[in-house]
Amino acid sequence: MNIIKFGGTSVANAQNIARCITIIKQKKQEAPVVVVVSALGGVTDLLLAAAINASEKNEDYKPVLQQLEERHLEVIKTLLPATEQSSVLSHAKRELNRLETLLDGCYLLGELSERTKDLILSFGEVLSSYIISEVLKGHGEDAVLADSRELIKTNSRFGKAVVNFELTNSLIAGYFAENKNDITVLPGFIAQSGDGYTTTLGRGGSDYTAAIIAAALNVPSLEIWTDVNGIYTANPKLVKQAEPIPYITFEEAMELSHFGAKVLYPPTIQPILTKDITLHIKNTFEPEAHGSTISKVPEVKSQNPIRGISNVDDITLITLEGPGMVGVAGFSKRLFEVISKENINVIFITQASSEHSICLGIVDAEAKKAKAAIDAEFDFEIRQLKIYPAIIENGLSIIAVVGENMKNHQGLSGRMFSTLGKNNINIRAIAQGASERNISAVIDSRDVKKALNTLHETFFEDATVQLNLFVMGVGNVGEKFLDQIKSQYAYLKDNLRINVRIAGLSNSRKMYFEEEGIDLNNYKTALETGEPTTTDGFIAAIKQLNLRNSIFVDNTASNVVAATYAQYLKNSIAVVTCNKVACSSEYENYKLLKNLSRQYNAPFLFETNVGAGLPIIDTLKNLIASGDRVHKIQAVLSGSLNFIFNNFNESTTFYDVVKQAQTEGYTEPDPKIDLSGIDVKRKLVILIRESGYEMEIDDIENRSFLPQQSLDTASVDDFFDSLTTHAAHFNELYAKASAEGSRLKFVASFENGKANVGLQFIPKDHPFYNLEGKDNIVLFYTDRYVDQPLLIKGAGAGAAVTASGIFADIIRIGNK
Ligand code: ADP
Ligand code: ASP
Ligand code: MG
Repeated sequence: MNIIKFGGTSVANAQNIARCITIIKQKKQEAPVVVVVSALGGVTDLLLAAAINASEKNEDYKPVLQQLEERHLEVIKTLLPATEQSSVLSHAKRELNRLETLLDGCYLLGELSERTKDLILSFGEVLSSYIISEVLKGHGEDAVLADSRELIKTNSRFGKAVVNFELTNSLIAGYFAENKNDITVLPGFIAQSGDGYTTTLGRGGSDYTAAIIAAALNVPSLEIWTDVNGIYTANPKLVKQAEPIPYITFEEAMELSHFGAKVLYPPTIQPILTKDITLHIKNTFEPEAHGSTISKVPEVKSQNPIRGISNVDDITLITLEGPGMVGVAGFSKRLFEVISKENINVIFITQASSEHSICLGIVDAEAKKAKAAIDAEFDFEIRQLKIYPAIIENGLSIIAVVGENMKNHQGLSGRMFSTLGKNNINIRAIAQGASERNISAVIDSRDVKKALNTLHETFFEDATVQLNLFVMGVGNVGEKFLDQIKSQYAYLKDNLRINVRIAGLSNSRKMYFEEEGIDLNNYKTALETGEPTTTDGFIAAIKQLNLRNSIFVDNTASNVVAATYAQYLKNSIAVVTCNKVACSSEYENYKLLKNLSRQYNAPFLFETNVGAGLPIIDTLKNLIASGDRVHKIQAVLSGSLNFIFNNFNESTTFYDVVKQAQTEGYTEPDPKIDLSGIDVKRKLVILIRESGYEMEIDDIENRSFLPQQSLDTASVDDFFDSLTTHAAHFNELYAKASAEGSRLKFVASFENGKANVGLQFIPKDHPFYNLEGKDNIVLFYTDRYVDQPLLIKGAGAGAAVTASGIFADIIRIGNK
């Protein structure tokens, strides 16, 4: 005998039912088939809503009835030949009229008992099973409709009735011993109490119906047909990268479904586990896919100790605590007794070892009832201040990492919680079952998607890391940066297993967000459709999206933007910046940002603040981290000044060279910032701070080579004019240097706690002498590099190298 069950989506409409019919006919070739069906997708929810509306004297149930009628009659009209439609249509209409009478009754009485609710909900499966059996008959099949209510007997716990297995098993066995049709169709979900009332087995209960029948008939296997390719490593609706689990044990499947994998109703496993019946989960819409096979011993064993990650939403935590609980026996017994008396399902329990508090996770819907019952039970102790009234917290979810083999592996919980911690996911409670088959944590529901995805990445995705970037600034550097991401995307993914996505982008006018990543071929157009940019709005949008591994990238030179870094870091959002403002601001602020980065586990990287893409800061960090100490720094840190002094000679004017540097993009828009030495001071102060010294920018002596009048100019044009006015001054500098056989270099120095920047005459034998074009050079004299300094040299300015430096910082984060 083949037992197969089709879920709601599989029978949602005529087209889908036609697929089920094809599958049933195929199965029938092998052996007689028992088909268990759910209500048409969404119908149970509609019935429930209609019943509640009616009982609240809300007439909205009437259009719902209309909708239900249309959906069911449509299936009959589409799938049955016209000649056979009328009797089926009139039978279905009679059922729908009965339903209407019941709902009208609820409306008139203004009430809805649990018993009536079950009766109303049963119409979904009653109608679907009737229609499907008639369609099969219409196709000439030897099909019959059997009534689950006559075969499955339960107690009177409406809403989630408990099966009387002894009676049920014998009724089912008896029925099938007598009836030998090719195809028997049964409604899932519904059953009957001993005193003859319709009951239901709990939402999602059609799976259970199929399992009950399979166990009663002692078949070797059972198939559940649904709308996905089996049980996935995580809910495929929330985790894109989730994959079907091909082989899984009963216990693992039970654990995953208990913790929210809706694809299987949790009680389903119990009857088939006892009888060792293999369960196949298959996809009606992709029948050739393997699906999941659930059995006692998996056919193929996986190396991964983790089998899946699941989540249950709408959870309330109830905490019972108080000074009078410590060491006093019986509190938990009383607590659990009162909870069970109220039929409240406990999903999660933790008790601190101090016994000072016990914490339970239950579904939101039962929270009020639970609190009232607990407070009543402990009323005496509460009045004596031994126990506090039960504390209720809602809006929570449970996430659980599940795997049979977890007990044999150390460090899994460490990995789980550090992964969550890195993503700023606050954990409210933790439990690890004694079976060690799962570790579960209670978190804020808003963090569920992020938690599932980041845990999935950690445990299943061969170390592929998803980085979500939020980029401010699409000027020179920003544009190059986006180009580089676009061209390196495939390489990063294939070789470094880093998946980079630009989830947010802004220029000074507009900002635009896209959770799945902005298409970099069209970002300019997308940006135009965005909202007006504000720094607060940008942060708020990032927090709202709440994506894992979020990185804020500052490609601006703005003070306002630099002032927002602390807010990002405090939300565990990494900051990567080429903007020098923050790191060269007051030492206090620099230190604060570094501390926040440590405290919130959020990288704060600014390699491009000094020497564009050259790995200067990273090298310095490595030196310091390995215990070295920097004593002296000598450097040429201005690509612009180097370009200017390399091109300035007797055949050019100083004005022309500076103008050329500005036109070619080697200077700041206001070249005075470079020529006055301010920019070099900023870079030097950053190097000094990263070397471990406290220094303010004003502590650096500036030996400017500019005449006072040039320094005092108020506009860029005036500044340029002053370069011509003082042409003789600049020519003289050049002549003096060349007379000595030296070259002019703008040098930054730090030694014995003192720092200065200024123009120097560099003799032929000095490492700075041959510094060409717009290159930078840094010499570090340290404990280890005493006589021969550590030297880093190369292109130190330009949008492309700066962009590649930002890129390198991002990859550093991805590789962490
Ligand atoms: P049916 O109506 O066929 O019984 P359900 O809607 O009850 O189907 O269950 C299938 C759905 O379960 C999937 O569409 C998916 O959204 C959800 N789901 C949640 N967690 C998982 C998981 N781990 N694996 C597969 N599906 C899951
Ligand atoms: N129709 C019922 C429900 O939606 C049972 C099921 O589909 O399994 O809960
Ligand atoms: Mg289901």
